[in-house]
Amino acid sequence: MEINKRIKYEKELDDSFWRWIVSTPGGENVEQCIQCGMCSGSCPLSIYMDYTPRRLIAMIKAGFKDEVLKSFTIWLCSSCYTCTIQCPMNIKVTDLMYILKQKAIENKKYPKRFPISVLSKEFFNMVSKKGRNTEINLVFKLLLKTNPLKFFGMASLGLKLIKTGRMNFKSDAIKNIKQLKTILNSIEE
Ligand code: SF4
Ligand code: SF4
Repeated sequence: MEINKRIKYEKELDDSFWRWIVSTPGGENVEQCIQCGMCSGSCPLSIYMDYTPRRLIAMIKAGFKDEVLKSFTIWLCSSCYTCTIQCPMNIKVTDLMYILKQKAIENKKYPKRFPISVLSKEFFNMVSKKGRNTEINLVFKLLLKTNPLKFFGMASLGLKLIKTGRMNFKSDAIKNIKQLKTILNSIEE
């Protein structure tokens, strides 16, 4: 992944980001980070990340809010929890990745056209509206928002799945959507 190498001046940094992280459940311990690198060394995906978990934490502390929220790292994290187990300071690195994903979506800073972030957002939108995910709609939206040309390449596979009943156009929904909305609203509050 390509790293943005533009020099950033101190006045452009956002130190409120750091304060917000440590006041968010799951992010409290982050200030204990000693930059030992155990998280990055044990992470099976760090070689594909634009910033390793250790570096991401250093950037959070320094106030690089935009770079952190736009990074591919938070979306590539597979929630395997290896870093969390290995961290000598008991920092919940995996939970931190979740906090950052949420914030990236909230601030609309996630990498555009990147399949993992688009899939997460569309899946959440669908499930929060209907309580269920309709695979064909999800795949359609994913391709449309990431790589529309791929749609034609996948059309024959899609038709086979529809013919064999593995996918259908029927939009599924739970019976009591109102209950789901109440739960989701209470989380937001
Ligand atoms: S393992 Fe823990 S203390 Fe070490 S760099 Fe990672 S988060 Fe910081
Ligand atoms: S939880 Fe995420 S950041 Fe931590 S080791 Fe696994 S993939 Fe890497």
